[in-house]
Amino acid sequence: MPRRQFISGENACFNAAQVLSEQVYTYKQFDSVTDKNIWGSNTTQSVLKQSTVLPFQHGVSASAFIKAESLISLIPQLYKLSQDKTGVVIHVVAENPNSSAADFSHIMSARESVPVILCSSSVQEAYDLAIVAQAVAIKYNTPVLHFYDGKRISHQHVTIDLVDDQVLSQLLSQQELDQYKQHELEQVASSYLQYKQQQQPEQEDKQDVYQSISEVMVQFATLTGHHYLPMEYTGHVEAEKVVIAMGAGASVVEKVVVDTLVSNKDAKIGLVKIRVYRPWSSADLLNTLPRATVKRVTVLEPSSVFTHLWNPLFLDVTAALQVAEFDHVDISSGRYGVEGTDLKYGQVFALFDALAKPTVDVDYNIANLNLLYPAQGTPSSLKEGLYVVGDLSQFGDISQSNVHATFDNGFYHVRFGSASSFVSDKIYKGKYVIIGEPSEAAVKAVSELDVDGTVIFSGAEAIKDLESYLSNPLKRAIATSGAKVVYVDNVKDVFTVGINSLLSKAKALTVPSGWSQLADQESSAGQASASAAGSAAKTESTLPVETPYLKMLDQVFQDRLQVANAVNSASVWSRDELNPSASAPEYGYGKILNQIQERARFIDEVETLVKKNLVSQVVYKALSQWLLAVKSSKADVKTINKAAETVVEAVTHVPAAEYVAKNKHLLFNKSNWLIGSDAWAYDLGQSGIHHVISQGENVNMLIVDTLPYSSELEREQRKKDIGLYAMNFGTAYVASVAVYSSYTGVLHALMEADAYNGPSIVLAYLPQEPNSAAVNPLYTMKETKVSVDNGSWPLYRWNPTLEAEGKEAFSLDSQRIKKDLEKFLERENHFSQIVAQHPDISQVLDVTKRHQELKRKAREDFAKLLSGMGAANGPPLTVLFGSDNGNAEGVAKKIANRAKSRGLQVKFMAMDDYESVEELANETNLAIVISTAGQGELPSNSRDLWKALNSLNAGDVNFSELNYAIFAMGDSHYWPRPEDAGFYNRPGKIIDAKLENLGANRLVPIGLGDDQDADGFETALGLWQPEFWKALGVKDVGAEDDEPKLTDDQMKINSNYLRGTIAEDLLDESTGAIGEINGKLLKFHGSYGQDDRDIREERKKMGLEKAFSFMIRVRMPGGVSTPAQWLMMDELADSHANGAIKMTTRQAFQLHGILKKNLRSTLRNINHSLLSTLAACGDVNRNIMITPVTEIPEVHPQVQDFGMKLMEHLAPKTTAYHEIWLADKQIAGNAVQDFEPIYGPTYLPRKFKIVIAVPPNNDVDIFAHDLGYIAIVDANKKVIGYNVTIGGGMGMTHGNKKTYPRPANLVGYVPAELAVLCGEAVMTTQRDFGDRTNRKHARFKYTIDTHGLDFIVNEIETRMGTKFQPAAEYNFTDNADRYGWTKGVDDKWHFCMFIENGKIKDWPDFQPKTGLRELAKWHKGEFRLSPNQHLVIADVPEADLEKTKAHLAKYKMDNLSFTGLRLNAMACVALPTCGLAMAESERYLPTLVGLLEGAIEAAGLKDDAITIRMTGCPNGCARPYVAEIAFVGKAPNTYNVYLGGGHKGERLNKLYKESLKEEEILAEINPIIKRYALEREVGEPFGDFVIRAGYVKKTITGMDFHENII
Ligand code: SF4
Repeated sequence: MPRRQFISGENACFNAAQVLSEQVYTYKQFDSVTDKNIWGSNTTQSVLKQSTVLPFQHGVSASAFIKAESLISLIPQLYKLSQDKTGVVIHVVAENPNSSAADFSHIMSARESVPVILCSSSVQEAYDLAIVAQAVAIKYNTPVLHFYDGKRISHQHVTIDLVDDQVLSQLLSQQELDQYKQHELEQVASSYLQYKQQQQPEQEDKQDVYQSISEVMVQFATLTGHHYLPMEYTGHVEAEKVVIAMGAGASVVEKVVVDTLVSNKDAKIGLVKIRVYRPWSSADLLNTLPRATVKRVTVLEPSSVFTHLWNPLFLDVTAALQVAEFDHVDISSGRYGVEGTDLKYGQVFALFDALAKPTVDVDYNIANLNLLYPAQGTPSSLKEGLYVVGDLSQFGDISQSNVHATFDNGFYHVRFGSASSFVSDKIYKGKYVIIGEPSEAAVKAVSELDVDGTVIFSGAEAIKDLESYLSNPLKRAIATSGAKVVYVDNVKDVFTVGINSLLSKAKALTVPSGWSQLADQESSAGQASASAAGSAAKTESTLPVETPYLKMLDQVFQDRLQVANAVNSASVWSRDELNPSASAPEYGYGKILNQIQERARFIDEVETLVKKNLVSQVVYKALSQWLLAVKSSKADVKTINKAAETVVEAVTHVPAAEYVAKNKHLLFNKSNWLIGSDAWAYDLGQSGIHHVISQGENVNMLIVDTLPYSSELEREQRKKDIGLYAMNFGTAYVASVAVYSSYTGVLHALMEADAYNGPSIVLAYLPQEPNSAAVNPLYTMKETKVSVDNGSWPLYRWNPTLEAEGKEAFSLDSQRIKKDLEKFLERENHFSQIVAQHPDISQVLDVTKRHQELKRKAREDFAKLLSGMGAANGPPLTVLFGSDNGNAEGVAKKIANRAKSRGLQVKFMAMDDYESVEELANETNLAIVISTAGQGELPSNSRDLWKALNSLNAGDVNFSELNYAIFAMGDSHYWPRPEDAGFYNRPGKIIDAKLENLGANRLVPIGLGDDQDADGFETALGLWQPEFWKALGVKDVGAEDDEPKLTDDQMKINSNYLRGTIAEDLLDESTGAIGEINGKLLKFHGSYGQDDRDIREERKKMGLEKAFSFMIRVRMPGGVSTPAQWLMMDELADSHANGAIKMTTRQAFQLHGILKKNLRSTLRNINHSLLSTLAACGDVNRNIMITPVTEIPEVHPQVQDFGMKLMEHLAPKTTAYHEIWLADKQIAGNAVQDFEPIYGPTYLPRKFKIVIAVPPNNDVDIFAHDLGYIAIVDANKKVIGYNVTIGGGMGMTHGNKKTYPRPANLVGYVPAELAVLCGEAVMTTQRDFGDRTNRKHARFKYTIDTHGLDFIVNEIETRMGTKFQPAAEYNFTDNADRYGWTKGVDDKWHFCMFIENGKIKDWPDFQPKTGLRELAKWHKGEFRLSPNQHLVIADVPEADLEKTKAHLAKYKMDNLSFTGLRLNAMACVALPTCGLAMAESERYLPTLVGLLEGAIEAAGLKDDAITIRMTGCPNGCARPYVAEIAFVGKAPNTYNVYLGGGHKGERLNKLYKESLKEEEILAEINPIIKRYALEREVGEPFGDFVIRAGYVKKTITGMDFHENII
């Protein structure tokens, strides 16, 4: 007997944590259950004063209990724990103190910082998963976050099964603990080890971890009988409407689904419960869903943060379904917990009702649902709950009773009696309240009673003098409630005798009339309460449920289930040697037959009764209808049992029908099962099985087969196949299922078997390790997978009913192994008969084969297309590439094209698109072009083929006919340390060596392309290629080496003024992406295609398209928008994007995560608000930046006005934008020729960026842009003209010295009236002299360095028609934003707030998105985006000043108390959306700044402004090269560090150290900070100091950026 205890969810978790930890940190004092853990060492509880840091120690197994609101501040530590692979468990109560519902917002905020997140949906589950969490943490060295709902689980009391220490130590042994500790200590000892661990491919880790959790769950199940899956489906096997949920809310849905299916088995509804939320497995989700039938999915999530339209779980689910191309599935989001509203039982019905409507809302606030769709309501069994005020200990030990108590609103909501009345939902309108103490909570409880409720008192004080015992509010509440008031002196018996019995001995108390005038309305209350209590007294029937299959039978059939033979673990898992006859099929069959005969006699008797017409009309009608149903071949169980209920009601107390009443159990249809083992298969022809099948009675058999079939030997020695044997009879239902392969498949089969009117056999697989007495869950799981996959345990169903309906009786559920199944079936003698009877079966079995054929044909067609429609007749050549950023692919493409033009038959594709290594051996000639990723890793599209190749040993496959050549691409200086030299071109080298080792013939020595060579990789390619052609014998074949290249200019010309075929591409629903050329053109329209790189690998492994979406950038000079425009962006962020607004480094709005189908409507809405995205990206003048808050307030309107005019003047004039996005048809296109007066049809060679600075602020970074204007202001505060700078730019390529950032040159002054003309002259000079052949060299900075500054200036002056005047005096002080309040003109005020990295979204503890939206509803001024990604609330009228301040304070948006370092930090977007990112940026810089702040504060530099910037790649979007400290991503977690930029943005920095990781960065920078504090001169900025102190040399021009590196 398991130990049982009545306990709350949180205490249960604490109990589990204590016995499995040495140290437990808690936020409050828990009652300790022990001072020793299962390994016999001490376990200690420490209550933390604050939970901002958890003091975990290395080498100590630990867990912690924290409140959800502490989680956010722990995020940095969580990252660290993950990185260090510290095996600790953090239990989190997911609650919001202001809400009675759960709230997952905090957990969701931290979801990316912990590798494993588990969620529990009941108290028992919370206890069990707390154990699983601890086991996973220790076994796999990973932190685990385990969370559960606040009210419903944490504060809920039920009786649960506890697991004995001895069992726990089987789950988590001393040895495993020791290994973990050893690992932990090694972690401390070896930082090198940490690096190695970080280098492991993260995605592989995620997969492994998910698998590991599943394995621990299986192991746990075997030891305890408590089964959990990471994701679990409950519901109809062909469900169309499915809810996906986590936590206690999922249990409410589960209850509704189960109850609905009991009353209507055809209700096509279901639930997927998520237990393992991280790592997220899209593959598992897709497998768990009833994918063939599901049409509508709703994702439920409790969140108080209702500004996020799309909750995280919803996004995870949506992404999974979209990528899997479940386009036919409507996905909606259901939010509860909003404003404290809980998820109620009735609301789930309303939700399913809503999902049945023809059109589905995408977003539900669940609380509103029952207004829109009247809910079916809560069934009476759930209403009849009991409130208890006071301690539950007043009832003594109730652990043996079925009691379920939730503490909410100061009192307990108690359900008891039948387990079926339990739902993870508090009681609304309870029937009874037991008042153990007359507290304030008692007033609440009474006022929540239903109209006919009963108030129950007990105890001496109450009976002595109720008048003085109760407070006035309680008296009033009782009187106004109309409840009956009683006294009982045996209240503690309530859970044993039932409420009815208790009340039968109760003494009624009179409520004095003075308590309330409603006091005389109580009279009718008693009756209802008495009858209502009836059902609560039901006791739960218990069944032996030792195996997963038995549990499922119990779950599916509940009261209807009748297992006829002896069932216990011995008889199912092995033969019951002690009592073999009791477990034999004949034994159970005899019992069932007896019942069948008994029922047949009963039916005869009823028939006689009806015929004799001896009963009343009511009884006659009821009996006749039951007879009709029971004799009809079409009636289902539900109809029969419903008719049976009517009969029971009708015949009670009818003497003539006494026989019926006495035998009423025979009225109901049962689900009769015989449970057996595979031993029944021996000697089939003589067995009980033969007997059962041949008799044709309605008996179901579940046969659990424990023999492993994966090995050839076992298959050869296998016993007779019961399934095929039964199928031969043609009259038996047969199913072959495996619970660890398809849970829903098992459910489906059980239901079909039950519904089938005849013998049914369900063969259930549960393989056990041979020669092992103990159950090995890992073995079971693996063996199931292998056996199902290789076809030795096929999953199928044979349903003769379908055959009678003219449908195919045989259906195959193990889709991927059809071919193997065919072989398997062919081996059996009977298969030919089946095929003969059902010729279509062979077609079914051939689907995979046909798919493969089609795939092969498509590949061949593609290859033909590349080789000139099959015209080539030269030798074959297969060109494969491995390429992450397209360079190697481009080279491979060139080689393929050149080969074609030499007459070779060419196949060309990515390595991983190639069929198989075996096929590779059949090729004649093979060329592989492969680049190098990270630290010598293979590019992502080549890893699978390499894995397969690398697994071969010489001789496994004959490669002797294959000739091969490899061209590798890398950078010999990318990893400069000598010990890292092996990373250089490693992928190419290992493939080259492997192919040689396998016996293939090397055509030419490997080519090693090196970025360091004079022409980069082209140098080596130029040498390698002729040798390659020579080896192929086509060197001298006259051929054009390159097909005419489609240059970017040609692309622009062909595009018909930026139209391309974008409009057509948008209509293509077969992909979420857009074609390559259209993708380039789309940039001119302000949008980039992106994909979520966080999940790229996972999708690829699933064979799915990348998670494509689009970024949209809004062009808005000076970053100025109106409140109405802000509201529009806010709305679009929620409705069309990922819920956040990104303010860019160039004062533009960006929205991310927009799906292709929403692109057009998003742009339309943006345009409706009078903003535009045209020319926000692309080879044109982009958004113009302008100082948003000028020191002289009067200057801003003047520079803003200039910026607007300049933008208008330089904007593209094509009508394509309007046509594609705004109009419904082509308005110009081919009919009207567009005209670009400034750009012409080829636009600019590259992007062009303009800024306007107003001294003393250089916030726009004037020297980092192609063209800059420095406003010159006279004494009258008038902008009289501008100093002009040209040729600044940031981007470069690692390792390519021909690319470099460049500070702009100051070339002179122009009067204000010439400023627009000057802009045109500068831009057209670049248009005409920029390099149009090499995009890497096409920016204006290179044009100037190529042609010389004088030449360019002269050209500009010629175009302007005047010379530049000498530059006017100006002075910059810094390049930061002007934070805080400043006064503008006309008594208006501006406030510049700090928004970290420009991200506007709501966090649980900081909600700027909501705050700004609310502000925009009444703010009369402007919103101005700052150049450093912050936000200015501009032009606040004096009258609104206090109101605005109060509003900012309310949302904490007025907080500027950050370090100078953080206030001056800026990062680009980088991962996961930027396709060029090599490392994290925006997601990591805040952490790094946090780490540096320690040194900053210790050095007393808290308020000193030091410019610090980070980008994910050298492209430089956050202008890193003018920062005083810069980090530029080089590889995951690895950055080049630059120092010495000018504090005013006037000087470039210089490379200080290459390829540093976090610890190295801290080790390098912290001492410099310390020295700076001690040694700086007065007013000396950090950037100047590091040069003076000799850390780096000063950079003068762009061309010496790469020189003089120390
Ligand atoms: S700097 Fe690089 S990683 Fe960052 S956003 Fe720009 S292109 Fe992407």
